[in-house]
Amino acid sequence: MKLANEKKFPVIAYGAGSGVCGGTLPTSRGVVLDLKKLDKIYEVNDKSLTVTAGPGIVGQHLEQELNRRGYTMGHFPSSIYCSTLGGYLAARSAGQLSARYGKIEDMAMGIRVVLASGEVVETLCAPRSAAGPNWAQLFIGSEGTFGIITRAVMRIYPYPESRLFHAFTFNGVHDALESMREIMRAGVMPAAVRLYDELDTILIGGKKEGSVEDPINFDEPDESPVKQALHKLKEGIQDVLVSIPKATGRAAEFIKGKCLLVLTFEGTPAMTAAELKTSIDICKKNNGEDAGEEPGRRWWNNRYNVSYNQSKVFYQGSFVDTIEVATTWDKVEQLYHDVRRAVSKHAFIMAHFSHAYTHGCCVYFSIVSRGRNEDDAIKTHKAVWDAALGECLKAGATVTHHHGVGLFKGEYLLKELGGLTDVFFKMKKAIDPANILNPGKLGLPDWEG
Ligand SMILES: Cc1cc2nc3c(=O)[nH]c(=O)nc-3n(C[C@H](O)[C@H](O)[C@H](O)COP(=O)(O)OP(=O)(O)OC[C@H]3O[C@@H](n4cnc5c(N)ncnc54)[C@H](O)[C@@H]3O)c2cc1C
Repeated sequence: MKLANEKKFPVIAYGAGSGVCGGTLPTSRGVVLDLKKLDKIYEVNDKSLTVTAGPGIVGQHLEQELNRRGYTMGHFPSSIYCSTLGGYLAARSAGQLSARYGKIEDMAMGIRVVLASGEVVETLCAPRSAAGPNWAQLFIGSEGTFGIITRAVMRIYPYPESRLFHAFTFNGVHDALESMREIMRAGVMPAAVRLYDELDTILIGGKKEGSVEDPINFDEPDESPVKQALHKLKEGIQDVLVSIPKATGRAAEFIKGKCLLVLTFEGTPAMTAAELKTSIDICKKNNGEDAGEEPGRRWWNNRYNVSYNQSKVFYQGSFVDTIEVATTWDKVEQLYHDVRRAVSKHAFIMAHFSHAYTHGCCVYFSIVSRGRNEDDAIKTHKAVWDAALGECLKAGATVTHHHGVGLFKGEYLLKELGGLTDVFFKMKKAIDPANILNPGKLGLPDWEG
């Protein structure tokens, strides 16, 4: 960083490159700083329940080592095999068990950062503090534009003794969302709460075998003739969906059906039993039909599958993308309908609701569309994002819950920031006056050197 500061060239921090918004793409000449060799675990502190590690450690390796020693960090993004601790912190990642363990920013207790000048700074590690602004949080989520994270102290937890699963089906999303909200409001801390809308349930959640997560899974190994026939039927539906997504998108608006709610609980046996009972009571009160524990177990066993099958859609000439936004409970349902309505003119769209909190949740849309040619596909892709995030901005929802901003969502972030944009630009100028740290990301000025 000292050399970059002296010679004035951009430096782009690189974890594992799994970020989906172009955060690691250079916009000009510069150096990509691969941090994967900073992968040591320095300390596991049993008394304070913390782990200190380098930013380059892959999520799965960190979690496995913690599990071996009897702990969990509780961070399980679908990209756990191909993403790093530094990347999580830099892009404010969320794992599938965020309802219980929080997002990565909740897990971080202290960080070490190399500034644009090459100076190394470290934030103090305390359970909570009132010593001015939270300096760690200034760098967390800055996607390599404020500094390079070179070490982190993270919260960990004893590995859970008990894990329970349960699922319910509902007629439409309304009662199911009410159940989610009431479960969180009651103080239950489920490890995972995932609600699939009607289309997501038909294409994913309704399956008896294989991945409940997987909308476009063409490789499912079915053996019995009935299963093979069902598999062929699903393939046929998926082929139609992928080849004429705009038409199916409009038609899908009228589909009504069941929505699957999957719940997972982790902790001591007494705690999980109590949380499960409270949740079952709430779902039944809201007209949920008990689907037992099997759909929850299936989700757990296949929870990382979906993302790795998306490339198949591209081979068929269409594209797939995911849009993850978040808002408070009073706006979630309306936002879901508004985004679906706006996007279905351009794409097939379905959603699940995950990352539930006491005060709101994330809506995770999956879209499939295509263009007449590459230019047209790029135009359609932009139209989808403008439509979706336009509705979010109108509603006062955040344009990203956990994928971050990168190169792609800069314009939407600045719209979300509104009057804070000026403060943001001034902060960047103060922290990195030569603009050498990942220029052009987060809607900040591009490299002009
Ligand atoms: C298949 C798949 C599934 C995914 N599922 C999830 C999911 O469930 N939850 C989720 O949150 N995300 C998910 N993502 C997105 C992605 O994995 C996350 O954004 C993750 O946090 C990126 O980590 P990375 O190490 O790959 O970072 P990179 O992609 O290498 O970098 C991301 C950004 O952080 C910056 N950066 C990286 N390391 C540092 C550092 N040490 N210091 C400063 N800046 C740094 C980079 O410059 C870049 O701007 C998924 C992506 C894929 C491909």
